Amino acid sequence: MSGGQRVVIAIDGPAGSGKSSVARAVARELGYQFLDTGAAYRALAWLILERGGDTDDEATVIGSLDALDSLELTVDAAGQRVAIAGHDVTEAIRSERVSAAVSGVARTIPAREAVNVRFRAIIAQATPGIVAEGRDITTVVAPDADVRVLLTADEAVRIRRRFGDVGGDERQVGARLAARDASDSRVVDFLNAADGVTVVDSTDLTFDETVDAIVRLATQEHA
Ligand code: C5P
Repeated sequence: MSGGQRVVIAIDGPAGSGKSSVARAVARELGYQFLDTGAAYRALAWLILERGGDTDDEATVIGSLDALDSLELTVDAAGQRVAIAGHDVTEAIRSERVSAAVSGVARTIPAREAVNVRFRAIIAQATPGIVAEGRDITTVVAPDADVRVLLTADEAVRIRRRFGDVGGDERQVGARLAARDASDSRVVDFLNAADGVTVVDSTDLTFDETVDAIVRLATQEHA
């Protein structure tokens, strides 16, 4: 898929592993584009909730897929903008309400197939490279990426990081994160590295050390 000089870096991992911020920083450092694939699932979940629907209802999720034509997903490493059906949802898709509803979208296979078509088209056009992060990038979306990383961290550390981001009640944040991982992992295995995927465990690493570890993998690959 990467073809020519285009470099594709795929990063998967569970909620709270720091994937998004790490992937964005790696992209910035290398001068690459950045694709947060979770944003597409979140935008669909946001739209379904906005229309008063239930993301656990498969027919409702499938009925929302037409709106993907209107999905805008920028790939700017300085800050991704997300819009759907004419609404800028960049901020709104980060709410706990959307986080709690998004797994229903992710469980719907036609939704996965539809967003994957978009992701692959974006990756195929990336210049000079792209860092794409999600749950199934190393295995389904871009299994032939130049660098494939599974970014993990112990659950307690992930909960603490997520709590630092969203605040609220730490026990509730932990319960929601664990529930989302449990639901997500029924559809894609992002807890075990597939063949050829390098595990980067950030439990004992600082943010900068984690970014460096992935940049090093990318530069080794292309030395
Ligand atoms: O990464 P983020 O937490 O924003 O992802 C939101 C949700 O989107 C995940 O909990 C998961 O349900 C879904 N997702 C997915 N496959 C991806 C990216 C995200 O199923 N590649």
